[in-house]
Amino acid sequence: MIKFRVTFFAVILFSLHLQAQDTIPGLKGKVNISIAKGTMECNFILSNIPRINDYYIRLNSGMNIRYIKNPYGLNSLHYEKSLEDTLSTGEATAYYLKGYNAFRKFLPKAIQFSYVGMYPVIADTVSADDWKGNIAFNGNTIRTDGSQTAWYPILYDIKKDLKYDKVAYDIEVNCEDCKTIYLNGSVPVESKHANFKSDLPQELTMFAGNYKMIAINGNYFLNPDMDDDQIKEFEAIIHTYKSYFEKNLIIPYKGNAVYIQTTPVAKNVSWLYASYPSIVNIGFGDAGMKTFFDKKKGDRFKPYFAHELGHYYFGTYRDFNSELGDMISEGFAEYLSLTITQKLISDSVYKKVIESKLQSLHNFNSPPVPFAAVKSHNDYDNRDLYVYYYAPLIFTAIEKEIGEETMWKWLRSILQTPATFTNYNFLEQTLSRVLNDTAKFNLIRSKYFTADSVIKNVSATLGINNTIQTAVPAAQQVVKTYYFLISRPLLDAGSPDNRTILHTEILETTCTQAELFKKMQPVFIKMKESCQNEEGCTRDLNMYETLDKAKEAYQRWLKPFAGNPNFVIKTISL
Ligand SMILES: [Zn+2]
Repeated sequence: MIKFRVTFFAVILFSLHLQAQDTIPGLKGKVNISIAKGTMECNFILSNIPRINDYYIRLNSGMNIRYIKNPYGLNSLHYEKSLEDTLSTGEATAYYLKGYNAFRKFLPKAIQFSYVGMYPVIADTVSADDWKGNIAFNGNTIRTDGSQTAWYPILYDIKKDLKYDKVAYDIEVNCEDCKTIYLNGSVPVESKHANFKSDLPQELTMFAGNYKMIAINGNYFLNPDMDDDQIKEFEAIIHTYKSYFEKNLIIPYKGNAVYIQTTPVAKNVSWLYASYPSIVNIGFGDAGMKTFFDKKKGDRFKPYFAHELGHYYFGTYRDFNSELGDMISEGFAEYLSLTITQKLISDSVYKKVIESKLQSLHNFNSPPVPFAAVKSHNDYDNRDLYVYYYAPLIFTAIEKEIGEETMWKWLRSILQTPATFTNYNFLEQTLSRVLNDTAKFNLIRSKYFTADSVIKNVSATLGINNTIQTAVPAAQQVVKTYYFLISRPLLDAGSPDNRTILHTEILETTCTQAELFKKMQPVFIKMKESCQNEEGCTRDLNMYETLDKAKEAYQRWLKPFAGNPNFVIKTISL
């Protein structure tokens, strides 16, 4: 979906022309929330629905439907669920209204939905996981994104692979046990009731509950963990990042940002996401926003915010679809973050990040599929490595080849060239037009888009050794190694059927790593055969250069089990 907004610099005719191709659905209605009970009750009318034949409407799987009807019709309508919505990540169910067109579907011009959902309130982080697509009640607040949770009905055009997750809205939010309510794109309100309106389409991230808010230069900080001076400094630093992007992309940010700090419903998880103007940081302690000012960790934390600010362009200003859409959104947001790291944070951090990203590519199970050969999302193999490591390194290498100025031109072209599918052809066409030099384009394409040896070419261009070659000889060196084996339950550790821990003492050998692995093979087999945990046993070989390091690790590994009556610990000898 091309969501060109009217910007300060945009030529009005250009904007009107592009917006005319695009329909912005409207969402009007009411939502009642209780953060103490974990409930959401919604009554919405989705209107200005584009005339499409083959569609789904996504709605969160935890919502129970009272009825779906045409607001101007008399009766409730029959709906079906589909299991064919391959783009859904599981949080949402795909619905459609039964009809008589070629797709057996009916899509009225407006649809009214009445539904209710009840979610667990998890104040003690007992959940095993938390993630962006979770409607999370942490005892103090509700946090939900728009697109992934689909807490409101989201229309999806199957043929164009286009989701209408951004809507104009007129929504009344009632939350008797909240102090503050915020809906993406509106000013937060300190009240139990709020009426939010936006003519600009927004993805409906929501954050409501008991928290304080602070406004600085028009930017809001909800539930901040930083003190007032830190917030001021944070705002000033972020302003420099935004100005840098605006200057180079010549597209201004529309509206001030809203920074949300909140905690997850699971231990040890943290992440950031952006749905501009909201930038949401979810994490406890060290993973909170105040880490921005940590002397040791700050410079590694700041680029995360640059990445999220990059999503204003690659995500909000323009959505990307097709098999390469995810790579384009994340890869370029990460590339933009790298440019901020280099220019405005620290050149030495930049170099370290580039180098460590390059090293991480060795974690691919097989050489990554080059952009030109990606036929589906599955071809990414390891999605995180592909979109956050492989892709931004390629863009960094291309920047070295074509120069910063032309690189910015390419980014602008990617953001502004109309296209139904932002696929590989789109990527090629935008670059070739910007370069306007067939030989140069062919060189870039063959080195970075089609070659089997993309990683090698990236390493050469960035002037960093590809360490696959050096890693192998290290494994072949004869060295003294201290090691121990430990075998734990694969699943449900500490339950009656999965409670056995086997381990060796610390052992010593002088040989190559390859020889040690070979020597351990029969031991691994023996450990597997004698596994006493019903769901299986791990086999961990831990190796260290010094006895001290081995002892320290040995204590660390056994600590969670020692003295715990839920486990039986046995020592084995080889
Ligand atoms: Zn991202």
